[in-house]
Amino acid sequence: MPENLFYDVLIIGGGAAGFFTAVNLAEKRPDLKICILERGKKVLQKVLISGGGRCNVTHAVWEPRELTAFYPRGHRELLGPFHRFMTGDTMQWFEDRGVPLKIEEDGRIFPLSDSSSDVVECLVTLSRKRNITLHTSTSVNDFSYIQDGWEIQTKTKTYNTKQLVIATGSSLQMWKMLAKAGHQIAPAVPSLFTFNLANKEICKLAGTTAEVTVSLNGTKLISLGPLLVTHWGFSGPAVLKMSAWGAHILRGRNYNFTLKINWLNHISSEQCLNKLKSLRDSSKKQISNTPQFNLSRRLWEFLVERSGCTGVGFADASNAILSKLAAVLTADQHQVTGKSTFKDEFVTAGGVALEEIDFRNYKSKVLPSCYLAGEVMDVDAVTGGFNFQNCWTGGYIIAESIAAEI
Ligand SMILES: Cc1cc2nc3c(=O)[nH]c(=O)nc-3n(C[C@H](O)[C@H](O)[C@H](O)COP(=O)(O)OP(=O)(O)OC[C@H]3O[C@@H](n4cnc5c(N)ncnc54)[C@H](O)[C@@H]3O)c2cc1C
Repeated sequence: MPENLFYDVLIIGGGAAGFFTAVNLAEKRPDLKICILERGKKVLQKVLISGGGRCNVTHAVWEPRELTAFYPRGHRELLGPFHRFMTGDTMQWFEDRGVPLKIEEDGRIFPLSDSSSDVVECLVTLSRKRNITLHTSTSVNDFSYIQDGWEIQTKTKTYNTKQLVIATGSSLQMWKMLAKAGHQIAPAVPSLFTFNLANKEICKLAGTTAEVTVSLNGTKLISLGPLLVTHWGFSGPAVLKMSAWGAHILRGRNYNFTLKINWLNHISSEQCLNKLKSLRDSSKKQISNTPQFNLSRRLWEFLVERSGCTGVGFADASNAILSKLAAVLTADQHQVTGKSTFKDEFVTAGGVALEEIDFRNYKSKVLPSCYLAGEVMDVDAVTGGFNFQNCWTGGYIIAESIAAEI
């Protein structure tokens, strides 16, 4: 006979969203019996490996509307929640509980210790202190609403609860169960990846960075920021941002597309050509020996060679030659033929359709007394600590809402 267990609140998933919900709820309502079910042997595994082992907890963006701009999916829905639990609240929360944080130059926020295990330890210690029950190696196979509560099935046990929180991240198995229960699930596709190139000639510049604008012909996809040349193609913020905002479009093209790069960031082809023509009037030097537009010498030499201008002096350059150089500098084209995982952070776009969640309390509009938090929803962000912020905000608001309701 399976064991029968009752909890006031049952949370499926022992990741960032599940733990943050549990700990905040227990702090607000120590009287409640709370249980986390985790299918893995260990909890918070993604937090542990996050940010290259440093855990990029959140980001130094202090205005809710500004923060929403970092979420390709969820930007509209998260505005209200961010007004209630923001990045500053996250900082305060961890610092008040013994995890001092630091803000890096680019705005990313990490534990002062540079160790993700401090975040894991904080959440696990608080959950123990607050008597939250944790069952690991416990995979939920099914759940159903019976009379006025939930019955949750694992291989060996049946759990009952009044309030169910689903925080299972990008679990295909859970999305299938949620679809069976009546939820719409946006198809899962990878987000936050780097681009592989067919022609790897530029890869000899691996390690080179430039402030660029990248775009995809025939679409509105455009992304600005640093681009990093790698041994297999392109990475860096401009590329990662494009992979997130274009997650569905790029999947639709099977990660085969022509990437347009303006190596001069926002300088137009016309402005570039004018500058090159003025150099023709003033410079007696070889084009390839005279880096312009703040490009590194290696990159400049490569792009000059790519445009066929090697060995040409500025003074001898024809209009046609300068136009060709301007075209390479401002509208270079590279054939992308695949993607690679960005090891510091990656997420899956897709999940429970956002119109089926009430963002005042993160309650499902389809299932009674059921809350959804973290990556299980169709919310994802660009790299920089924003994905965890989605978990912290959702977890906190669910805790507030359940604490008030029970
Ligand atoms: C390598 C890597 C690095 C990252 N670095 C960062 C970073 O620095 N900053 C940032 O903001 N984001 C980062 N992210 C993204 C971030 O980790 C996720 O957005 C976040 O962990 C999602 O949290 P979650 O609680 O929703 O899901 P998860 O962390 O995936 O937790 C869900 C849990 O539910 C469990 N589960 C699933 N199905 C069941 C089931 N049926 N029964 C029981 N348990 C189940 C899973 O085992 C898992 O433990 C990174 C991601 C990766 C992969």
